[in-house]
Amino acid sequence: MKTTHILVIISLILSHASFTGYSSSIKNYQCSKCATVVRSDRIPSSSNCRAGGSHQWHNLGEFGMENYCCKKCSTVLKSKRIPSTTGCPAKGSHQWSHLGHVGNITYQCRKCGVTLHNERIPSTTGCPQGGSHQWSKLTH
Ligand SMILES: [Zn+2]
Ligand SMILES: [Zn+2]
Ligand SMILES: [Zn+2]
Repeated sequence: MKTTHILVIISLILSHASFTGYSSSIKNYQCSKCATVVRSDRIPSSSNCRAGGSHQWHNLGEFGMENYCCKKCSTVLKSKRIPSTTGCPAKGSHQWSHLGHVGNITYQCRKCGVTLHNERIPSTTGCPQGGSHQWSKLTH
């Protein structure tokens, strides 16, 4: 009984530690070969890229509560500020548009299929299919 009690306390401390680290040091990493995005506090493993060989990770900056979409590769990131433009999987540099603040409402663009969670209807600028996004609300 006593050991169980101690384990509960330890796991509470650990979950609190990971929660406080969450807002300060988690970064978005994206592989420029397979477009996978990983949130991590350190550079992810480079083994087994599904595009073949090793992943090529790019640090796109700190994870945060703003939605950004690249109109070249359709990647959507939750970022603290405008993400780095390095390593767009569609070649060259990402072209980020700020779509709004992260929230509980799910929106999907009828043109490009991008889905995100935003607090209100996202900005229509920079649809990867050209022109403006056409947002549909998927939740209330
Ligand atoms: Zn990869
Ligand atoms: Zn891109
Ligand atoms: Zn769109």
